Amino acid sequence: MKDFTKYDYILVGAGFYCSVIAERIANDLNKKVLILEKRKHIGGNCYSEIHQETGIEFHKYGTHIFHTANEEVWAYLSRFTKFNGYYHQVLTVYQGKVYQMPINLETINAFYQVNLKPFEVDEFMKKEHEKEFYEDPKNFEEQAINIVGRPLYEAFIKGYTQKQWERDPKTLPASIIKRLPFRKNYTESYFFDPYQGIPKNDFTDIFNKMLDHPNIEVFLETDFFDVWNDIPKDKTIIYSGAIDKLFNFKYGKLEYRTLEFVEEVIDIEDFQGTSVMNYADADIPYTRIHEPKHLHPEREIKGKTLIIKEFSKESDGTEPYYPIGGQVNNELYNKYLTELNHTYPNLIVGGRLGDYKYYDMHHVIEKALNVYQTKIKI
Ligand code: UDP
Repeated sequence: MKDFTKYDYILVGAGFYCSVIAERIANDLNKKVLILEKRKHIGGNCYSEIHQETGIEFHKYGTHIFHTANEEVWAYLSRFTKFNGYYHQVLTVYQGKVYQMPINLETINAFYQVNLKPFEVDEFMKKEHEKEFYEDPKNFEEQAINIVGRPLYEAFIKGYTQKQWERDPKTLPASIIKRLPFRKNYTESYFFDPYQGIPKNDFTDIFNKMLDHPNIEVFLETDFFDVWNDIPKDKTIIYSGAIDKLFNFKYGKLEYRTLEFVEEVIDIEDFQGTSVMNYADADIPYTRIHEPKHLHPEREIKGKTLIIKEFSKESDGTEPYYPIGGQVNNELYNKYLTELNHTYPNLIVGGRLGDYKYYDMHHVIEKALNVYQTKIKI
């Protein structure tokens, strides 16, 4: 049996949520931390590694681009890495033709075969909105149609969304589509945020630096649920896993999507000319193809390339990636949260899974810094 008494805090999961909190506790409070991680590596779903055959660094759980508008978060992360200046741009294939994504003036002009100027877009879209517009959009589809009109929705959003979520977009929360910008100019950036980039030495290096401290120990391949009973009851536990699992799913399972990736090495230098190509058509089974060498244009890798096809699947509780959300799931989440506060007052839950929220990396770091200040450093 492991001796947990020598640590001041036990953290569960080595993704951004617990790694940031561990770094703060170790450096700022000078207290001892143990991180329990089920997988063979740190970094959570941000983990990156070198592909053996090609030497190309790739993100094992899908392409991650760091972006934020929060200066504090940017400054914090910049303590552990330099960024390479990569600016994320996405393209999408619809019926065999490549368009810019998010939908911008180039997409609109190419799709409608017109030549609008930015100041003409509102008038043009008004015609679509006169045909269909929702005063009080209640779901993903209504919200999307309000933003882009039905034809653009049917082409670029509906099929992709059905593949990604395997649900009728009328049953999905409107908040999901608000992640995507809609631009009336030629700006191609996928994000609104002023700060973005890929860490120069990629993501795993950030985690190595954050956790490299004599006060921090990490046990890999250690499932928290196998050792929970051995942890003294008065110890503060910070848990970044799925909340329903803490209760053995007793009120039912929260719904998540998971992803599957299929790698392929190709004997050409550049397969698609960009890091992420989306596939909008419902009859193409994958949602996107990643070509990770484009994330590091500063590195020269000749000859081969690596491409990775992404398939979205329902999670049966394993490898949850995306919380599906919506009223039923959110009510179930709140039921677990209420019980958590009564049953385990020493357990702090957070992160994308713990909060059951579709966070990006910068949200998680912001939340972790905040929890450290308000719940730990008190
Ligand atoms: N989306 C879409 N078409 C696209 C890209 C995104 O319809 O080409 C929709 C889809 O519903 C997706 C959501 O917008 O789930 C959010 O996209 P984002 O790129 O933020 O998803 P992530 O990178 O987190 O998977």
